[in-house]
Amino acid sequence: MQYYLKRYLPVVKNPQKIKIGVKSEGIIVENTPANIVLLEKLIETGISEEDIANEAFFGWMKEKEMLTPTMKGIRKELFLEYMGVPLERSILSKKLLILGAGGMGSTTAFMLAQFGFKDLTIVDYDGVEESEIEKMMVYRREHLGQQKTDALKQILEGTFDYCNVKTIEQKIRGKEDIFRIIEESDPEFVIKAMDPKDVGFRLWLNEICFHKQIPFVNNSYSFEFIRLGPLFAPGITDACDNCCNLWFMKGQGADADFNASEKLFHSYTIHPAISFNINIAASLAVKDIIFFFAKKYEYVSSFSKVVDFKSLELQGEVVEITRHPACKICSEVELDVRSSVA
Ligand SMILES: [Zn+2]
Repeated sequence: MQYYLKRYLPVVKNPQKIKIGVKSEGIIVENTPANIVLLEKLIETGISEEDIANEAFFGWMKEKEMLTPTMKGIRKELFLEYMGVPLERSILSKKLLILGAGGMGSTTAFMLAQFGFKDLTIVDYDGVEESEIEKMMVYRREHLGQQKTDALKQILEGTFDYCNVKTIEQKIRGKEDIFRIIEESDPEFVIKAMDPKDVGFRLWLNEICFHKQIPFVNNSYSFEFIRLGPLFAPGITDACDNCCNLWFMKGQGADADFNASEKLFHSYTIHPAISFNINIAASLAVKDIIFFFAKKYEYVSSFSKVVDFKSLELQGEVVEITRHPACKICSEVELDVRSSVA
């Protein structure tokens, strides 16, 4: 077996010494031409068990777990390994449903595919417009006039050959539509990246996901503010998004009801900060999704939390969402998909 120096371990030298590794956990050897040759071999071609037995400092490095038997891992696997997550390829086979293929949805989908997620279902209903080329990273001029779902499928499958994208062209008019999409796509995680102008959408999604025990995350931005979360994971987090709504109404009045708020004059409110906010918000969501599946919950910033982030000042505020005593969704009630058309 060949051994290599673990990636991310720095090697620095001055005229006398070479230091390998971080702080007190590293080792120091003499800066000699012979040692430089040995280190180059360790980094470039790998060393054998015999090299380790013959060279004292290779032995110390093995003892200090500074060696790794492979360098062949691809970036996403190395990242998971670096974060202490076993290389479970099943993480990347999870079925993800992305509701919305606008700025947030397309950017999130692209980043997830780039990381290696391969089973994506994307829902949207309109086409790529001129104004969107200016604010989004993913679409190009050649996609103008195409349906966003078709354009995004073409981009993702054309860029990442392992990626399999299903598309659903659907304007969501009621709870039944969400129900049907979820039945059809059978997701293991749902990302809400759809425009909030769809009145009621968020609470319908919450109700269905909660009853079907499907984890989901909210992600939105407005002007120079980004709001990530809450991420709800049935069986792990205890409150639902309706609890979040009830707490917000308690704090900000009944007008703050998710169900009753609609963004008027939508195109007028497109803020100049939108393009970088889309990218920051999507990155934060993707990070939480990766660590949610990797079960590294300490890195999931939005577990039962709303993270409000001001991108101009790099300042954030975190509001914890607990179960609301009046919430009827996360207490036991039956799912009713009948009388929901707005
Ligand atoms: Zn609830």
